Amino acid sequence: MGTGGGIMTGTDPKDELDLVNPASGELITTVTAVGAHEVAKAAERAHVVFESGVWSGRPPRERATVLLRLADLMERDAELLARLDSEDAGKPITECRTGDVPGAIESIRWFAEAADKVFGRLASTGHDSLGLISREPVGVAAAILPWNYPLAMAAWKVGPALAVGNSLLLKPAEATPRSTLHLAGLAAEAGLPDHVLTVLPGHGSVTGAALARDAFVRALSFTGSATTGRGILADAAETNFKRVSLEMGGKSPQVLMPDALSYGDELIENMIEAAFLTMGQNCTAGSRILVHQDIADEVLARFTAAAKALVIGDPAKPETQIGPLISRVARDRVAAAVEEARAAGAGIHTGGLPRGLHPQGAYCPPTVVTGAPENGKVLTQELFGPVVTIQTFTSEDEAVGLANASEYGLAASVWTRDLDAAFHLARRIQAGVVSVNAYSEGDITTPFGGWKQSGFGGAEKSTNAFEQWTREKTVWIRTR
Ligand code: NAD
Repeated sequence: MGTGGGIMTGTDPKDELDLVNPASGELITTVTAVGAHEVAKAAERAHVVFESGVWSGRPPRERATVLLRLADLMERDAELLARLDSEDAGKPITECRTGDVPGAIESIRWFAEAADKVFGRLASTGHDSLGLISREPVGVAAAILPWNYPLAMAAWKVGPALAVGNSLLLKPAEATPRSTLHLAGLAAEAGLPDHVLTVLPGHGSVTGAALARDAFVRALSFTGSATTGRGILADAAETNFKRVSLEMGGKSPQVLMPDALSYGDELIENMIEAAFLTMGQNCTAGSRILVHQDIADEVLARFTAAAKALVIGDPAKPETQIGPLISRVARDRVAAAVEEARAAGAGIHTGGLPRGLHPQGAYCPPTVVTGAPENGKVLTQELFGPVVTIQTFTSEDEAVGLANASEYGLAASVWTRDLDAAFHLARRIQAGVVSVNAYSEGDITTPFGGWKQSGFGGAEKSTNAFEQWTREKTVWIRTR
């Protein structure tokens, strides 16, 4: 595990996080949990270092150099970082090697390169005055992370927050602190001054809540569930009104118009990835398939066959496409929702689990549900598992109605060659990102943020991300 000047360790040895490998139920290691008192001390140190200007006062180009060095070091340790996330979260190692880790490195590089391109504005005034609107770091910032993309989510926050000069307190999820701790070690190796990046592993209700309530923290960026997000917002309101941005869950639709099958295997492969990447424990998982009645039978047959063909197994093996869920508790919750649908008469289509899996592994097979009960869990809740529903429609209006019938609005996809229908649906679907003939969150240059209960207070990625981590100041100058 990485070490570095910015890493906090707890003082109460009993207060530990047990890291359990979801593929085997075996204890990987324990990590000391940081208590509320230490969070307060870390925040104060972060404040002192911010005020010192050792990082915040450095020319942006110099900050960029340090962050680019960090990206190089992540590249050097890419295999270790992939293994840490794979072991802690049960993610297939190939997914970590080809997706999470390169994506995290790209984020750090992109925001490093952007560090000296965060400009203010000039107000249009009369000839006797000038308004200079500058964009400045918030000071002490905090980020609270989920377990499904531990390193990638850390990079989305670390990149922009540090590029503009903040001091950042980072709380990883209970189950997945190791890649973030290693990242802090690499940051120290890259030359980041002590206490500019502090990783605080701990329990949400203690460490996370202490960050949400801390008065030094001026901005807090959270990625996780809507329930937790609501509590953080309340904590911030009750204390110092820190600026809060929330990236939360989803129940995202994949809409297939009558001509969608003209995309053939590409369509099915894309749908499978949308539904089952990270075992469906993905905030943008395309968990609701909405298909035109005319092609529903063929889509069900082809999609189900592809789902059954996915390789389920030990996430450490490169061929594995489906590993365990994050825990057996999560697995049981997902299984109970599927059973509820089955009992209500829904069709459950699954290939089940192969023999030879570790008996203590939290495995759940890819599952397709048809005829799901309207108010049941599989259709209404973010299950966070490899379970998708298929619903049919006969008109564009009906498709839009179904797509928008969710409290969430994170992502959506539309498949059709009909440009008119594609634009029409893309305009009417309530989601932060709608992809056409692809299932995608865009790339690092495009903003990412949810609508409705999926997001609040600011986007991630792209230059929009800087809005979360900076504040504007107007300097009004009388020129004569
Ligand atoms: P979670 O809300 O349980 O936990 C997220 C983080 O919040 C953890 O670090 C946890 O320790 C912390 N936390 C818990 N209670 C807290 C409290 N009272 N105060 C402060 N912090 C607290 O979510 P999770 O199970 O780790 O992640 C899954 C959720 O994250 C899903 O809903 C998923 O959709 C969402 N997610 C969203 C995005 C996005 O960008 N929109 C990305 C990934 C995951």
